[in-house]
Amino acid sequence: MDPVPFNPNEAPPPGVSNPAFNGYRADLPLCDAHVHLGEARDHAWDMQMVRGLMEHFGMERVALLGLPSSSRLGRDDSGNNARCLAVKRELNAERPDRFVYACAGLLLRFDGLDDPDDLLAQARARVAEGYDGFKLLLGKPGQRKRFSLPLDGPVLAPFFSFLEETGLPLTMHAGDPPDCWDAAAAARGEKWRYDGSFPSLAQIRAEVEGVLRAHPRLRLTLAHLFFLGDRPDEAARLLETYPHLCFDLTPGGEMYAGMSRDPETWRGLFQRFADRFLFGSDSDDWHSSDDLATYTWNYGFIVNLPRAFLERTEPFRFHDTDLGVLRPLGLPDAVLHAVYRDNFVRRFGERPR
Ligand SMILES: [Zn+2]
Repeated sequence: MDPVPFNPNEAPPPGVSNPAFNGYRADLPLCDAHVHLGEARDHAWDMQMVRGLMEHFGMERVALLGLPSSSRLGRDDSGNNARCLAVKRELNAERPDRFVYACAGLLLRFDGLDDPDDLLAQARARVAEGYDGFKLLLGKPGQRKRFSLPLDGPVLAPFFSFLEETGLPLTMHAGDPPDCWDAAAAARGEKWRYDGSFPSLAQIRAEVEGVLRAHPRLRLTLAHLFFLGDRPDEAARLLETYPHLCFDLTPGGEMYAGMSRDPETWRGLFQRFADRFLFGSDSDDWHSSDDLATYTWNYGFIVNLPRAFLERTEPFRFHDTDLGVLRPLGLPDAVLHAVYRDNFVRRFGERPR
């Protein structure tokens, strides 16, 4: 059968929220475990963006992940945690049926002299302020290079132990798509391409596993499927070995192309480990245009790609990307409910702190 082409950015019917216009089911709950406020925008814009995102896509809950060091912008943004917390508080106060959570990042020195006691003190302070968990971007190759210390070394260990003791969740970006380790492209100055001065993907993965071994109760969510879309065997091994580990499904389109190479195995994994995957979009206010009414256009791809891949049953192709023909999983309702809602609630709590 020919792949079904469709446009993830087509306009929904007027006045329809969480539209089924791409064939998605309006009756499914949706919680987004991975949203940022990364761009320099004012508070009113942040509020409008998150409110609009939730209303447009019918999201019951979102987790705002603070990025006090933004890899995309290449600069530090020490106020980013507080921005997420302020938006959480105000949006939750507006409506009793809206649940916004905020996870804090650590402020790092990045000079090889980060102090474990300081990082632990930061974590305690953020918890006292009302954050629901933590976010680390430190496994992204550029950040890991700048940090210059192993993720499983003594500097972060007290922080991870604190999270084990409190049960608070941690979302971590570790690695990047394997194609990013392309020294020739790095030499040409292409963004997100890594030469030998960066840690390898294998090294980053080994350090993450070192953290998991040392902190087996850590409620770690590895973002972007830990970039294992083409390695279901390795994903299964990690899920089996570390019972508190989850993956979020935030694109990275390449993971969906990878999973499309073996959808039968992935479908089996999603059924076997239904409580270990979380929906996420990576929606960020840098996706916004000045006209925030255009949510379908702004966020259509990153929200609809995971949904299309998990829900659809026939091969399809996004009209505006080069991911090729995607072979979706067509997951049963019970698995979709887990991935879209129940796993989020279990990880981040029934109510925001
Ligand atoms: Zn992200």
